[in-house]
Amino acid sequence: MNDLIKELEDIVGAQHVQTTGDLGRFEEDWRKRAKGKALAVVSPKNTFEVCEIVKACLRTKVSIVPQGGNTSMVVGAIPNDTGTQVLLSLTRMNQVRSIDKDNLTIIVEAGCVLQQVQQVAEREGFLFPLSLGSQGSCTIGGNLSTNAGGTQVVRYGNARELCLGLEVVTASGDVWHGLSGLRKDNTGYDLRNLYIGSEGTLGIITAATLKLYPLPAAKLTAWAAAPNIESAVKLLGLAHKTLGPSLSGFEMMGQFALSLVDKHFPQLNVPLWKNSAYCVLLEASDNESEEHARSQFENLMQTALEDEIITDAVIAESIAQAKALWLIRENITMAQATEGLNIKHDISIPVSRIADFVESTDNLITQKIKGAAIVNFGHLGDGNLHYNVQAPVGVDYKDFLRIHEHDINTLVYDSVKEFGGSISAEHGVGSLKVDTLKDYKDPTALNLMRTIKLALDPTNLMNPGRLINDQYSR
Ligand SMILES: Cc1cc2nc3c(=O)[nH]c(=O)nc-3n(C[C@H](O)[C@H](O)[C@H](O)COP(=O)(O)OP(=O)(O)OC[C@H]3O[C@@H](n4cnc5c(N)ncnc54)[C@H](O)[C@@H]3O)c2cc1C
Repeated sequence: MNDLIKELEDIVGAQHVQTTGDLGRFEEDWRKRAKGKALAVVSPKNTFEVCEIVKACLRTKVSIVPQGGNTSMVVGAIPNDTGTQVLLSLTRMNQVRSIDKDNLTIIVEAGCVLQQVQQVAEREGFLFPLSLGSQGSCTIGGNLSTNAGGTQVVRYGNARELCLGLEVVTASGDVWHGLSGLRKDNTGYDLRNLYIGSEGTLGIITAATLKLYPLPAAKLTAWAAAPNIESAVKLLGLAHKTLGPSLSGFEMMGQFALSLVDKHFPQLNVPLWKNSAYCVLLEASDNESEEHARSQFENLMQTALEDEIITDAVIAESIAQAKALWLIRENITMAQATEGLNIKHDISIPVSRIADFVESTDNLITQKIKGAAIVNFGHLGDGNLHYNVQAPVGVDYKDFLRIHEHDINTLVYDSVKEFGGSISAEHGVGSLKVDTLKDYKDPTALNLMRTIKLALDPTNLMNPGRLINDQYSR
């Protein structure tokens, strides 16, 4: 192994190969559920160096774990605990290569932090709409490798829909130059969409061509109180009808989720939550004017109040007020983390069946474990719930997870299956859900995935054990 370390040092410079010291931020996952041990953390500066690293690892049969911002929710980006894997950190590859204003595209390197890309686009008068709670640390490479979703999907789609091209270092150390930025190219298999969402198991994304949009003329945010989840779903239908394509965000938050924000971040002054089972955060991005957006929003809220879909609502009067409302939504994840580990599910259900799913699954859980609390929130506009289960008051959360995690997961995922949903809406599979996937994914789809993995990474060099179980990929 010393020969490999020496070779890696020759490729990227000794200061960019770390084998000792505090490697915790690379080796432990964001949720602190797992800790691994890397043979070395290697940080290349360009695509050529990535190719050379892959070739060196291939020769020595050392597997590679690509890592961006290490904000994975499914233990996807840390090494295993054997101390034999190279952790490839993309964070030094953080250049914006070019902007093409006529083509409405920007080419960025994989290690660019999402927020940096949003800011560069905005300085040039454009919007890059991908928007996640982790945007201050997650990277474009990670976003594409997980096909990240977030809060603007209802209008702009997932990371996949925002990408027009990729540059990828393959598992054999070749470069696929696919950054063209074409909106039409029917010349064969869709390689771009194959690498997007592949969680580092097929190759390493080194750069991407991303779509830009004109900045909206106005953005408005509102907060509404809904007596139950059926009403929140009805409000979504009404918002689509009233706002049309201007509807750019539709987030739903259950009362218990908001109570955690109120407990841990009282300064955020959560509105309307105490007397309401659910609150909804809506955003409209209007291409005409602030007045147009406001009158549409007022119409929507007026109708929703008259039809008793909602019980109360506030429309933000300033950018500061809008930001304060979004901060509440974004801090639910932190509030949960402060409270202690809980059993998380990132699921999607057809919007029309969400209310029945929630009622049925809530009942099953509370019958099974008296006092268990459900932290239910998510991107209702996309049918995506973060449906998490927290220990009853007074029960140690580590004991709770140890005793109940498997059974609760089975209960929730069986219910997801019954309602025609997916066990991973946006966070991916990682190693956390890899064994579960085989019970819920179509067997033919799994077989096709195994065939692709074997064809593109025959030695299982790339992030082994993630997304596809090792058994499948050998
Ligand atoms: C507070 C918080 C809020 C979040 N909110 C959302 C949300 O709303 N929507 C959502 O979808 N996710 C969300 N996430 C999850 C996470 O931020 C996303 O999955 C994000 O896209 C991961 O980016 P990253 O750079 O941190 O990737 P990492 O965590 O470093 O890696 C994720 C996966 O991608 C692979 N990978 C990383 N870079 C590359 C590359 N260049 N080439 C090939 N493979 C690579 C890794 O091996 C791993 O499998 C949230 C996470 C946190 C902590």
